[in-house]
Amino acid sequence: MSFVDQGELRRIVADRLQSLQMAGVLQLPRGVRLQPMVDRAAATLVVGPGDGNVAVSVEARAATETSASMSPTVKEPLHVPNQSAVTDTDSSMAKKTGWQATTPASLFDTPRTEADSSARVLTIEILQQQVASCTKCHELASTRTQTVFGVGNTKTRLCFLGEAPGADEDKTGIPFVGRAGQLLTKIIEACKLKRDDVYILNMIKCRPPGNRNPLPNELANCRGYLESQLDLIRPEFICCLGAVAAQNLLGSTLSIGKLRGKFHSFRGTKVVCTYHPAFLLRSPSFKKETWEDMKLLMREMGVEL
Ligand code: SF4
Repeated sequence: MSFVDQGELRRIVADRLQSLQMAGVLQLPRGVRLQPMVDRAAATLVVGPGDGNVAVSVEARAATETSASMSPTVKEPLHVPNQSAVTDTDSSMAKKTGWQATTPASLFDTPRTEADSSARVLTIEILQQQVASCTKCHELASTRTQTVFGVGNTKTRLCFLGEAPGADEDKTGIPFVGRAGQLLTKIIEACKLKRDDVYILNMIKCRPPGNRNPLPNELANCRGYLESQLDLIRPEFICCLGAVAAQNLLGSTLSIGKLRGKFHSFRGTKVVCTYHPAFLLRSPSFKKETWEDMKLLMREMGVEL
């Protein structure tokens, strides 16, 4: 059990539940209980074993209401040149919020309060369970082995976004684990990162049969999940892999060749687009351009290559 401030937790969970509702999540999955307490300011949110999933247990009690105006997190400058700067950022956030911020585990973590991190992890678990039972796309739901939600550091500054799971991903439930995934891992490591430093996800969570491109209605059906996921992770940067992810996230019809090589914006998050690793396996001569895109991205993140 971890104890966090009730007012803070309650506000964050309310925000996240609203976000889930906007994604069409109207019911908490089995195993999740929200219990009102006698004191209106207190509530216990418990996620326990259910359907084989064990999420997080958070128990919060407060004697007094916390100021509703308190900000749970403060977005910090994009450039974080070294670890001492991260510490400065962290202490400045603590001053602004009056909260003791959690020190980031690495250069690639966004500083978060304990309450915010706990509520975030919990809500991501709820969303993941909801996705696992989703049948909005009848063909995909009837042909998939399992949904492929996303994997990695939920406090990261950087998400990699692909289009859809393939056969290997459908089998394992983990995005980018096939040959293309192995190339993505090499790209990430060439940027002096580890897969665990970033978060990897797809536009849609189910494998299209025969690895066809996702259909417009499938992309639309899954959009709410994607946006909730990004809202919860709140990365500073997104790297779109391939035309399907880039065009659909940005609402553009431009080719990937025209979208790459510069920054775009998605709801305040900086977005860079590059070629999909599967395309690079077929056309290795384009690896040079992808490396240029990665250098552009790392420079903006303050990472020296
Ligand atoms: S692709 Fe997304 S919306 Fe469609 S069935 Fe899978 S989880 Fe549901």
